[in-house]
Amino acid sequence: MIDISVIQHNIETIQDNIASAVSRSGRNASDVRLMAVTKTKPTEVIAALIKSGIHCFGENYPDETAEKIAAFRADPGAKLAMIGHLQSRKAKIIADLFDEYHSLDRLETAEKMETLCAERNRILPVLIECNVGDEDSKSGWHFADDSVPDDFLADFEKILTLPHLDVRGLMILPPYTEDGEINRKFFIRTRNIAACLNRHYGAKLTELSMGTSSDYAVAVEEGATIVRIGTALVGPRNYNRVRS
Ligand SMILES: *Cc1c(COP(=O)(O)O)cnc(C)c1O
Repeated sequence: MIDISVIQHNIETIQDNIASAVSRSGRNASDVRLMAVTKTKPTEVIAALIKSGIHCFGENYPDETAEKIAAFRADPGAKLAMIGHLQSRKAKIIADLFDEYHSLDRLETAEKMETLCAERNRILPVLIECNVGDEDSKSGWHFADDSVPDDFLADFEKILTLPHLDVRGLMILPPYTEDGEINRKFFIRTRNIAACLNRHYGAKLTELSMGTSSDYAVAVEEGATIVRIGTALVGPRNYNRVRS
């Protein structure tokens, strides 16, 4: 298992890179949250992250998260976000255990979460997942270019009316690349989509969740407010641990 001193060193490196990226783009380091992505990682790693001052977590597989929930709850300030594709039979786990839902990718799922959150009398902060790379293998609304398609707008308008969902921003997972520069156009596109939606709907999309281990510095230069980092923080994943 990864040693806590390695985790702490990784956090310093990532925070330094974020600090350089914000200064290149005239932003403040406090504008960017570091989210630790802990899918497939054991509870000891979560505990080490909390001990190292991380309070923001992203998980992908609801059953796995449910098994590890005590590790997150050990930190009363921890914020746990769902960042993976949600199968509708797992939606209750999100309503019961997660603080936020950052990978809202279909209108039907939004409506299901609305019902579950209404029953629980809670308001769920959500981010809308935009498939800005237009990849068939990925979830979210497709954006083939810089225009905002009508089918997305129709769904977006409906989601805005759901009283138990608080739409706070957009989330993207662009194509994997070793060279973050290649994804710059997708980060810019996402920022522009949010600005367009804010102008036309008076929406308050202030969060842009974009950037992973390989491209977060470029994402921060282009306006990311949340970077989701797994590998660069806690090492490579072993997917054999995951059951669902
Ligand atoms: C796994 C995952 C990450 C973390 O990716 P790394 O390359 O390990 O930093 C970020 N975002 C999402 C949606 C993920 O599923």
